[in-house]
Amino acid sequence: MLTQSFDLLVIGGGIHGAAVARDAAGRGLKVMLAEKGDYASATSSASSKLIHGGLRYLEHLELSLVRESLSERAGLLKTAPHLVVPQRFLLPIYGWQKRRALLLRAGLAIYDVLSFGDGLPASGRLDDDDIAQLPMLRQEELTSVLHYYDCTTDDARLTLSVILDARARGADILNRRAVTSIAPLANGYGVDLDERGDKRRVEARFIVNASGPWIASVDAMTTAAPPPRPLRLVRGSHIVLKMPAPPHEDAYTLQDEEERVVFVIPWLNERFLIIGTTEVRHQGDPARAKCSAGEEAYLLQAYNRYFAGARGPATVRDIVFTWSGVRALEGDAATRPSRITRKPALAEIANGTGGFVTLYGGKLTTHRAFAEEVLASLRKLGADIGGPWTKDVPLHGGTLPRHELLARAEQGPASLPLDVRRRWALTYGDQIEALFGRIACDQAAGVEIAPGVTNAELEHAVEIEDAMTAEDFLLRRTKLYLTLDETGRDTVGRWFTTAV
Ligand SMILES: Cc1cc2nc3c(=O)[nH]c(=O)nc-3n(C[C@H](O)[C@H](O)[C@H](O)COP(=O)(O)OP(=O)(O)OC[C@H]3O[C@@H](n4cnc5c(N)ncnc54)[C@H](O)[C@@H]3O)c2cc1C
Repeated sequence: MLTQSFDLLVIGGGIHGAAVARDAAGRGLKVMLAEKGDYASATSSASSKLIHGGLRYLEHLELSLVRESLSERAGLLKTAPHLVVPQRFLLPIYGWQKRRALLLRAGLAIYDVLSFGDGLPASGRLDDDDIAQLPMLRQEELTSVLHYYDCTTDDARLTLSVILDARARGADILNRRAVTSIAPLANGYGVDLDERGDKRRVEARFIVNASGPWIASVDAMTTAAPPPRPLRLVRGSHIVLKMPAPPHEDAYTLQDEEERVVFVIPWLNERFLIIGTTEVRHQGDPARAKCSAGEEAYLLQAYNRYFAGARGPATVRDIVFTWSGVRALEGDAATRPSRITRKPALAEIANGTGGFVTLYGGKLTTHRAFAEEVLASLRKLGADIGGPWTKDVPLHGGTLPRHELLARAEQGPASLPLDVRRRWALTYGDQIEALFGRIACDQAAGVEIAPGVTNAELEHAVEIEDAMTAEDFLLRRTKLYLTLDETGRDTVGRWFTTAV
């Protein structure tokens, strides 16, 4: 068999690999991206699901990171309007938090200046009537409640929309292809791939190692990898509760007893509440990252410190779902995990006329800007590429504003419940027309196999979005895992067993 040759092989189909593949394909490089599992199956589906400036980074004086993040947030509101949603965050301040009040007011003022003109409301302070209405928030010693805006997202779908745009620009994008070995050649690398037991060799002049928490083991596959930087693997976990009654419409930015930030975020049309995150040193295989009992207890304690439900404090019995992700941060062993910068870093090395770049850290929010840095590094290593182009260019599905998407949902096939059409609009963006088209062409496509799940959506997931298992569909192409009951999930599972 002929060995395929590429200008660039990207290892890892998380948000950073996706962004590098997209940017490079758009600059004319012949690109392959290999992801060993499903796209976004690691850290990029285990985030806090925020597109945010990072108010807390101001406390560490990381002004440039906040400025860049806010600028990227403004960009993503335009380029992925179906996936990036403005959300009001509240900052309750109690009598025992005087220093916090001063810092937060200063921080919010800077936040407002840095995000001026992006269309989101400025920060402010709730009046007493509004405070009294806040569900469950403890009122003793509550002196004020500040508010500001950030955005929520669906991290796995954001990654997918970058991946699908990269594919549309000519990149060869493959999931369930693990890179198993890398051998230096005179001008680049020979790479072995494993596709569920099938071996294949490709050659690439440049490699970008975007394998997140696996970067060290991928670098270790070759002697011609960049010199390693100090690496810290930090696990962050979230717990999910059923939304208590009355529901929280606002998200909260809280502080634990040691002044670490914990977010409380309404999720999936206010049906659930996300509480996170932790920051603990991760040991062992990142694929096995799991929320420990200690992390569950810590997050419940942080929540119960601020909220008192009529049924008493939230307990482990109220937890309906958890997830954990591992950050691969550049940082020395002595620094506290919450103090290690989230600023991305890269290491690079030339190999003949080719080269190898390894990515450390980063944020979902700043993936596009980080990809530009990686492309600048490839250019330095000798890649013949055009200039930056991705700013303000819509991602896959991202050409229509939310109001237009919701209007299209209203006009969609009446045979499909309106709540399903709305969910499609805010999941698939402008691709909702492709799903409607399937139903128009084939009546069977509109048949519901489980509540709100049609053949059309499943076929789209498999044929266009490379879903291969029920988990790919239920957890990452959609969030139906949380809203379907066990029978519905099993039905989807059987569909995948017979159809894929
Ligand atoms: C708890 C937590 C909360 C966070 N919250 C936020 C947030 O709210 N907002 C924000 O902006 N950022 C957030 N982040 C940061 C953000 O999630 C990460 O920076 C980002 O997802 C990292 O993406 P990545 O592509 O580098 O890594 P990953 O998403 O981990 O992707 C790496 C991929 O490489 C693949 N891979 C590994 N080895 C191989 C191999 N040999 N061959 C092929 N493929 C391979 C893996 O399967 C994986 O899919 C958070 C991070 C964590 C941990």
